[in-house]
Amino acid sequence: KTQTYDVVVVGAGAAGMMCAIEAGRRGRSVRVVDHASKPGEKIRISGGGRCNFTNTGTSVANFLGENPRFAASALGRYTQADFVKRVDGAGIAWHEKTLGQLFCDDSAKQIIRMLTDDMRAAGVLLSLGVGVERVDRVGDGFALALTDGSAVRCASLVVATGGKSIPKMGATGWGYELARQFGLRVTETRPALVPLTFEPGLLEKTAPLSGLAVDAVVSAGKTKFEEAMLFTHRGLSGPAILQISSYWREGEAITVKMAPGVDVLARLKAAKQENGGKQAVHTALGHIVPRRLAEVLTAREGANGKLAEVGDKVLARLDQAVNAWTVKPVGSEGYRTAEVTLGGVATDQLDQTTMETKSVPGLYFIGEVVDITGWLGGYNFQWAWSSGWAAGQAC
Ligand code: FAD
Repeated sequence: KTQTYDVVVVGAGAAGMMCAIEAGRRGRSVRVVDHASKPGEKIRISGGGRCNFTNTGTSVANFLGENPRFAASALGRYTQADFVKRVDGAGIAWHEKTLGQLFCDDSAKQIIRMLTDDMRAAGVLLSLGVGVERVDRVGDGFALALTDGSAVRCASLVVATGGKSIPKMGATGWGYELARQFGLRVTETRPALVPLTFEPGLLEKTAPLSGLAVDAVVSAGKTKFEEAMLFTHRGLSGPAILQISSYWREGEAITVKMAPGVDVLARLKAAKQENGGKQAVHTALGHIVPRRLAEVLTAREGANGKLAEVGDKVLARLDQAVNAWTVKPVGSEGYRTAEVTLGGVATDQLDQTTMETKSVPGLYFIGEVVDITGWLGGYNFQWAWSSGWAAGQAC
């Protein structure tokens, strides 16, 4: 027997749950289906288990895509302050970590509980462990065949299946396929907010630094980020690298400053004048960058002796190595560890106020499946909340 709902949401992630709550509160009959056994699994693992649920400074400037301005309407109608109000209303304690990033004091599970409680209160039916076998257009609505063998009809179908990152957790890219089935354009997708990897020759040189973190300015083209950077056994990671990975493309180099704002050459020359006969080069450099880095760099330049024993040319090369390191990653760690997927359903196919598809009335795309990708720092969840809220008012 076919069951009929006003709204079916596919995907019980951040965006899907927000949309379902809002539609349910408007009196719509809503069913959410998700093939995972639990809702909001990405929320659970986000922010190191504390969920960086928004950013106080969210604006379209923090997003990538063919047309980031598309996000302005939803971000403006349901803002970071609105979500903070909801978190406060649920009695969830939070703190600002850095750069406007808001985290739960206790656990990301509190955010999931808030959303599932709100869904229940709004009369939303949540079906877990159920996927979608097929979708057909029937009249003005949709007919869905679910993997549990049941058939469902709905007037509004909301696709909130997220991106391709972390396939181990059930990410499929199904949303992109559905978009194509309905003739919608999907922009090229690629892993983003992801560690970058080095080729073996380079890796050999950086291997001794594995585990070391430095505050760095990392740039690709005109874009730069100043945050922590981490040497790994595969290449580079840490916030600064994750951020730049969204802008970096294969074949390009990135430039790294590991002592931003410091004139390394001037500092080394001054140390040489003051104490050059006694102080080793790596000791002087170790006052500017972490000791292990100083040792590796001085060894590489053959500057193992005292400052007085090395020419200024060598000191200049050390300055370069610290503050103008140009390096070509060979690739990224890919969807296995990427926090998000860049690209997705093209925004010119959607109405920016409602997230409804222009050519297929009743079909909505929200959250990460859309070609709107945020920086690291709570922006991706804010996009999920805002776009989910916007669709929830309309479907
Ligand atoms: P998702 O949350 O991915 O939800 C999609 C849902 O759809 C899932 O429940 C999935 O099971 C379901 N689904 C998929 N395919 C199907 C299918 N075929 N049938 C049925 N169901 C399906 N962002 C931040 O802003 N702050 C953070 O702190 C943060 N930390 C992160 C940490 C990690 C390790 C990762 C991987 C991501 C992190 N992100 C963070 C990004 C953020 O998690 C995503 O941008 C956000 O979850 C996207 O929400 P969504 O609802 O669009 O998709």
